Order: sequence, then structure tokens, then C-alpha cells
Amino acid sequence: MESIIADVAIDCPGRDCFSYRVPAPLQGQLELGDCVDVEFNRRRLRGFVVEMGLRVEPTAYALKDIIGKRPGVQLPAALLRLIRWGAHYYRCSLGEFLAGAVPAAVRAGTAVTPQVTIRKVAGYSGALTPKQAAALAALPDEALSLGAAQELAQCDGALFKRLAARGAITLVEERTILERRLSAREERFSLSPEQQSAVDAVAANLAARSQATYLLYGITGSGKTLVYIELALQVIASGRQCLLLLPEIALTPQLAARLRSRIPRTAVWHSAFTDGERALLWREVAAGSFDLVLGTRSALFAPLPAIGLIIVDEEHEQSYKQESVPRYHARDLAVVYATQLGVPIILGSATPSLETVHNARTRRYQVLSLRSRPLGGALPTPVVVDMREECHRQKAQAQISQELLTRLRGVKTRGEQAIILLNRRGWSPVVMCQACGEALMCTNCAISMTYHKAANQVRCHYCDAARAMPRTCPACGVGPMTTSGMGTEQLVHALAQEVPGLRIQRVDADTVSERQGHAKLFQAFAEGRSDCLVGTQMVAKGLDFPRVTLVGVLGADRSLAIPDFRAGERTYQLIAQVAGRAGRGSTPGTVVVQAFDVQAPALVCALEHQPRTFVDAELKLRKEYGYPPYGGLVRFLWSGESAAQVQSLAEKQGDILRALLRGETLLGPGPAGLALLKGLHRWHGMIKAPSRGAVQAFLDRLVAQGGLKSSSTVRFAIDVDPYVTS
Ligand SMILES: [Zn+2]
Ligand SMILES: [Zn+2]
Repeated sequence: MESIIADVAIDCPGRDCFSYRVPAPLQGQLELGDCVDVEFNRRRLRGFVVEMGLRVEPTAYALKDIIGKRPGVQLPAALLRLIRWGAHYYRCSLGEFLAGAVPAAVRAGTAVTPQVTIRKVAGYSGALTPKQAAALAALPDEALSLGAAQELAQCDGALFKRLAARGAITLVEERTILERRLSAREERFSLSPEQQSAVDAVAANLAARSQATYLLYGITGSGKTLVYIELALQVIASGRQCLLLLPEIALTPQLAARLRSRIPRTAVWHSAFTDGERALLWREVAAGSFDLVLGTRSALFAPLPAIGLIIVDEEHEQSYKQESVPRYHARDLAVVYATQLGVPIILGSATPSLETVHNARTRRYQVLSLRSRPLGGALPTPVVVDMREECHRQKAQAQISQELLTRLRGVKTRGEQAIILLNRRGWSPVVMCQACGEALMCTNCAISMTYHKAANQVRCHYCDAARAMPRTCPACGVGPMTTSGMGTEQLVHALAQEVPGLRIQRVDADTVSERQGHAKLFQAFAEGRSDCLVGTQMVAKGLDFPRVTLVGVLGADRSLAIPDFRAGERTYQLIAQVAGRAGRGSTPGTVVVQAFDVQAPALVCALEHQPRTFVDAELKLRKEYGYPPYGGLVRFLWSGESAAQVQSLAEKQGDILRALLRGETLLGPGPAGLALLKGLHRWHGMIKAPSRGAVQAFLDRLVAQGGLKSSSTVRFAIDVDPYVTS
């Protein structure tokens, strides 16, 4: 018997889809991409319709009916196609990918709550209670969300209702999510000749509605954002929308403010939303209420109805790669999406990834160059401090060089600003026994504990385990504990002593955990309420503060010691990026870099502004060893509570992988670099193939053989195009 049968993807590892009968009342009502309720293993679950048609029912068992359709949630067909591609390429089930791409609040059908916005009534002079008056005084002139206002005025929603009743403020239910805005610099409306020619090149493709991938290769401060805005405006004028991805949530407020000044219907898409806000935003975006969606990795799956242009800013950033299922790379998937949609895509960077540079050199991507800083400002002058000599001079384990301190005092005197990067948080990264020399390790992870002085705790930065700092050594029970090395917490303390009066703000995961934390810290810096930002890589990226004339980098060469083929590339990018934060205004900037290996090519090339030299040398190495972009990788990871069981399954499945090799190389399996993480023992292995296509062919052979599966005690995972290899 033939019936209308729908394949529904449910969030369930391993299996892709399950078939259900479309009952008569739903026939003609149901479309691909609809969210439906179904019964699965006697539970009511939600899934998406990914196939539908008239088919013969199986005879061996009876299909169940779809229970019902969720109103208001439908994936656009183009997005569904992208997700199918991604699930196949990254080797997870369609249901797992959908669960990662569609916010839980949307899938769960969370009630949509409107955003309430508060605005002061200008010139209000009525009588108020002292409490009301204080709350009113705490509010800024511009509109802000009820949540932000409550936080700012330290009071509850009822007080604002009373203020509204008295006419002191207006409460408006808004459909969009408003953020407190950073005061953006005056927008320059005229494009430089370089910017104009970049815009013209892409505009020709926009007009012809044809596809091309561009690398917008612009030095830091060259005004890539202005190019994005001009092109987005053209796309919007043609009735379509623009998707703009960026790597860090920290960058959104600054960029959002700039975008909204030209494109009012800009939506910000990131993780710091409540469920209600998220569900609301999803529906509004799907309905076409927004012209531009700005967001991190997951914004790629914003259900825009008619995308005309995709932009991936800072395309080299590793945070585009998701490190949990689905393990997609948002930049790579964005290129696939643009190709499927037939629209142009721009990958922007001052320090493009070697993959992208290779694609540009082989003419797969077109290059648009921005070589000058239109708002003035030369690239910063580099000063390299050899810390071996410095330690010798200071006759101690020097952490901060005299060079950096002298310049920091100058910045303070002249009323300028500085940014100092130390990519390690806490007080000290190592706590050890003075008697036996044993370092304090996390009991869940093969990682040393970090000392946090304010809390007097030792913490593991991998699993967040924390306990009080021990007085005596837990290993020998005798020795007192001592700390070694410096983290951001200690650096702030040391700088405050060395440069009296310097107003310092720390920016790392310890100081910006709260919602909107970044925005507040950066706003204070933008308004000149602090002189110096000290932080981890959060301070290195994309920030644009014209009064910053000094950038300091501590331990610049340390990341080179990480055993990873991308270590050199990452170090180069980090130093070039943070150096680019200096001298963006009219006063020239300096970057002081402290390192032990002052000859390291990644460091020298980043400071001397020699990208070509670095890229040539690095590509040569990659080619020699067959690493991306000259080859493809897939990593297999086994983890479990029993070391013996993990080893046993890894070795057994390693044999299966080995039997499938046809010219690829299998590295391992063996214990992972991080052999114990969050209480789980880990083994890994990697296939190195001549190309990404060859990796996929290998995985197809593996699937044809039945694939590899987790056991009841050992979890098996697969990571296509891995970025973390430890
Ligand atoms: Zn000891
Ligand atoms: Zn741990």
C-alpha cells in the first residue's frame, strides 16, 4: 500500500532519519523543513521533516503517524540542504547536526517573549521618591533593555513600571534585541580608492548574481568593515539579506553599533540570549524582518530567507571550528553555503589562514587587497626584548622588561592607552612543592593546576575543578608550596606596583564571565575610564581604540612550543593581530614583544610585516609533511573511565582503520597529548590523506564496512579537518 511518508531527523547519534506516515489532516499542510512531534521509543520527540513522498509502506512493521506540526518553525530549504551536506561531510547524523544548528529553544517551541525597552522621557520634572529618582538617574539617555536597566539601577521591574506610570520613562515592547551600544567612532562615508575597488569587484558579481569567493586581505586598521557595510547596503537594496560572521562574541557590540548606524535592521546572533529572546529572534529572522544578521559561528544557521552575500570576518580564527558534535568549521561551511546559494562570499583577514592563502594562490579565490590605513596611522614600530638578556640584566627571573615599563610610564604621562597581552590567566600557572619539586596536578586531567590568588584557590582550566590552595605538599606531606610563572592576575598586580596610578582593567575568562561583561569592560576603556587593558587573547582581536599607542606581548614565543603543525601559524597571527591594535589613531604606535627565542620566524615576520616570507616558509613545511592545505586530516578519539578499555577499543578499531588504508597514512592510535581530561582517559589516531576528498573517500570505505562505534564504556568520536590535535 502506498502512503505519504516523511523521513524525520531526530536528535539521535548514529541513525539519520526515521520514517513516519503523514496522517490525513496533515497532508498538504506539511513541507520539508517543518518541525514535527513524533513518537520514538515510546517517547514523544521533536524532529525535522527532511524527505517526503508517496512510497510503499514496509510490510514487516507498521509505521507510526506523525503526531503534529509545530507552528512557526520551518527551516528554509537552502539551510536544510546545507545541513545535510554538513552532516555527511563531518560524519554525524542529520538529527545531531540539526540539534547543533537550530537553537534548543526553537526546537522546544519556547514561548516567544517580547523584549521590553526603556527610554527616559526628556525633561521630566515630576516628583519622585528618592529610590525612583536614583533609578532614573542611573539610566543613560539612549534606550536599553529592561534587563540591562535593572542591572544598572539595581532595582526590580516593578519600580520601572511605577516610573512609567508617572511618565518619567517609556516602556516599549520591541521585536528586536537591543544592546547597550558602544559609542562608535564617527563613520567615514567616503571610501578610499583601495576600498572602492574592492567594493566594485564584488558589486559586479552581486549585480550579475553570480558566485565567487574573495579573500579581502587587508592589514589591521585598513577598514575592511567599511567594505562590508557598502556591499551589505547594495545587497539589501536588491531585497536580499546579508550574513556576517565574526569569531568572538566580544567583538559584536563594537561592530553592531557601527553596522546599526548604517543598517538599522541588524540582528545580533550570539549565545548570551535567554531562550525566549532566542526563539523570538529565530522567528523574526525567518520572517525576513532583518536585513543583516551578525554573529559568531552558529549564526551561519540563522534562517535568513534570501541571502545575497556572506561575509566571514577574521576568517583565520580557530573559534570558527566547533569542538563538539557537530564538529563543523563555520568558514568552510560558509563557502559551501555560498556556492550552493550561488552568491558571493568574502573572507576577510589581515592574517589569512594558510588554507585560504593557498586557495588564493591557486586562483580558487580572488584576492582584494587593502594595503593602507585610510584613517591614518602607520603600522606600529616593533621592539623585541630578548628575555634571556633581560633575566641576566635584572639578575632574576624577570617577567616584565624595563623597556615595557618605561614605555608604559610614558603612555600614562601622555594620557594615552596601552594593551598588554599575556595568554595565561590566574596568578601562576604552576604550583609546586619546595621540598620534592612535584607540581600540583588536576586529579581529573593531566594538567597542572593554576593558582588564583584573590580566591586563594588552585583551579584546573580544563575541567574547572577548584580547591583551596594546600599549605603543604599533597604528594610528600612535607614541603611548603610555591608558585612559578606569571598569569594575568599577577601581571595586573605587578604593573600596578611598577607604574603607580595606572588604571588597569583585566580582560580574561575570569573577569568577563557574566553576560555582557565584555561590552562593559571595553566601553570603560573606550571612554577613557582606564589606561591599560591586560588580558588573554581576548584583547588581541578586532578591537579598535584610536588612543592605544602601546601594545605589549609577554611570552610571545611560548605558543610555539605546542606540538601542533599550526603552532607557528597561530603564533604569527596572534602577534600580528595584537600589534595591529596600536597606532590606529593619529599618534604612531609601538609594539614591545618579550620572547626567549627572538629569532623565531613566526615572531620576526609578524613584527617586520613580512607575511609573504612567513607564508612561503610555512607552506613549504606543510607540503613537505603533507599537512593542510596540502593534505586532508581526520582524527579519531577514544575516551572512557577505564584506561585499559580505552586502549583495547582504540587498538582494535585501529586495526580496522589500518586494513582500509590505500595510500593514506595512519598516525597512532596512541595516548592523546592530553591523556586524561575531565576524568576520562583518551587515545587518538589520525588519518593523513593527500586531499580532503581522499579523506572523504576513506571515510566512505569505513562506512561501507559498517563504520566504527562506541562501546558501552568507551566513547568513539570522529573529527574531520581537526584543529585540536592534543
Ligand atoms: Zn612535596
Ligand atoms: Zn581538570
